[in-house]
Amino acid sequence: MIVIDAGHGGSDSGAVGNGIIEKDLNLEISQYMANRFQELGVPVTMTRTTDETLNPTDRVNRIMNAYGANPNVIVISNHINAGGGDGAEVIYALRNNSTLADMILSEIAKTGQNIRRAYQRRLPSDPSKDYYFIQRETSPTQAVTVEYGFLDSPLDDVTQLKNFSDDYAEAVVKAVMQYRRLPYTPPEGANVYVVKSGDSLWSIARSLNVTVEELKAANNLSNNLLTIGQVLRIPQMEEPPTTGEYVVYTVKAGDSLYSIARNYNTTVSELVDFNNLSSTSLSIGQQILIPSEVAIPPVEQPSGDYLIYRVQSGDNLYAIARRYNTTVNELMSINNLSSNLLSLGQEIRVPADGQVPTEPSVPSPNYIDYIVKSGDNLYAIARRYNTTVNDILNANNLSSNSLSIGQRLRIPVSDTPTTYVVKSGDNLYAIAREFNTTVASIKNKNGLKTNNLSIGQILII
Ligand SMILES: [Zn+2]
Repeated sequence: MIVIDAGHGGSDSGAVGNGIIEKDLNLEISQYMANRFQELGVPVTMTRTTDETLNPTDRVNRIMNAYGANPNVIVISNHINAGGGDGAEVIYALRNNSTLADMILSEIAKTGQNIRRAYQRRLPSDPSKDYYFIQRETSPTQAVTVEYGFLDSPLDDVTQLKNFSDDYAEAVVKAVMQYRRLPYTPPEGANVYVVKSGDSLWSIARSLNVTVEELKAANNLSNNLLTIGQVLRIPQMEEPPTTGEYVVYTVKAGDSLYSIARNYNTTVSELVDFNNLSSTSLSIGQQILIPSEVAIPPVEQPSGDYLIYRVQSGDNLYAIARRYNTTVNELMSINNLSSNLLSLGQEIRVPADGQVPTEPSVPSPNYIDYIVKSGDNLYAIARRYNTTVNDILNANNLSSNSLSIGQRLRIPVSDTPTTYVVKSGDNLYAIAREFNTTVASIKNKNGLKTNNLSIGQILII
C-alpha cells in the first residue's frame, strides 16, 4: 500500500526558480508514480491530485486515512530541493532503517542523477522526534521524503529535472517494488530488456543486435553476471526517428533561450531537449534547432534562416524544389551540391521563406549528426572528423568531455566532406582502400547498417 504525497500545492509553491515551480513538478512526478503503481497492481493513493493548498494536518489526515495506521504503508513525499546543492537525497523516519531510502537512491543513481545521501533529521527541541512532520506525524507508516535535485543547482540538476523527472519517478517505483519483493515490469515503450531465466549477455546481445561490450557499457556492467528480473538498458545505436524538419536559428546579441522559445511558440525545456543542451546559456553565433512542428516563425524573420530537410525515400531535387517554392539550381547552390543525386537521410537546406538570400553570408560550418557509441571519446571523434575537441564542445554547448552512449553530437565539419559516387562493381572494401580509410569509418559517417551499396549513391568519405 502506497501513499504518494506531492509536496506543497495551491498557495504554497515550494521552491521556485529556473523555470521550475516545485509544487507543479512534485505533482507531475507523483501522478507518474501513481499511474505506474496502478499499472503494477499496487494499491496507491495520492494526498492531492490538483493544485490544492494542504496544511500539514490535512496532509497527515489524508495519509493516515488512506490505509489506516499501518507499518506496511509506504509514504513517498515528493519534493524538489533548493539551496544550491546538486543531486538527489532521501530523508527517512527515525523509526525506520535506511534500506528503502538506500534502494531509492541507488535506483536514481542508475538514471545518471548524482546522489547525495539518505539521512534522518531530529527535532532540535526533542531529538527523539523527527524534524519533518511528514515523518513525525505519520507513525507507524514507513515515510520517506525524496528530494530529486536542486532547482537552483549550479551544476546540471536544473536541466536534468526538466528532462528526466519521469526517469527519477520510475526509479523510485522500481526501488519500492524491489524493496517489497514484488515483480517489476518497466513502462510500455521503454528501451529496456528484463532478464529472464536462461538469458546470458551473449544471447541478449544477439537478440538485440548489439555487441556484448555495447550492452555492458550501456548498463555500467563490470562483469557478465545477470540476475533474473534485472532491467537492462538497450543501447540505441541508430539515430532516433526525427520529424524530418527543423528550423535553424542563429543566436544574436541579446537573445536568450526564453526569448527564442517565446518567439517560436515553444518552451525552454523543449529547446534544451531538442538541441541536447547541457546549459541554458547561449553564445552569439550559436545555432539552435527549433522543431518545425512548433516553429511558427516570428513576424520579423531574419533572412538566412533555413529549414533543414531530411531526404526521404522517393525524393528528388525537383520535387523538393517545387515543394519549397524554389529551384533545383538554387538548392544545389545553397547546399554546395555538385550533382543532383540525393541519398536517403541526407540533410539539405531549403529556404525557409521560399527565397534565397541574395548574398551568401559567412560560410557557416556544416554539421554531421553523430550518435555516441560504446568506446567513443571526444578525441577519437574529433580526429575521425578532422576537427578539434573544442569545436565539438562549442558546437554542442558542452562543458565537460564526458559522453554517454546514445548521446547525439553535432560534429562541425569545416570543409565540404569528400564524397564519392558509387559506381557499378564498387564495394565498401575497395572504396575504403582507395581512400585510405576503413569500411567501419565509411559506414559510420554515412549511417550505413549493412555493406550494401547502390549505384549512384553518394558516400561521405
Ligand atoms: Zn519541498
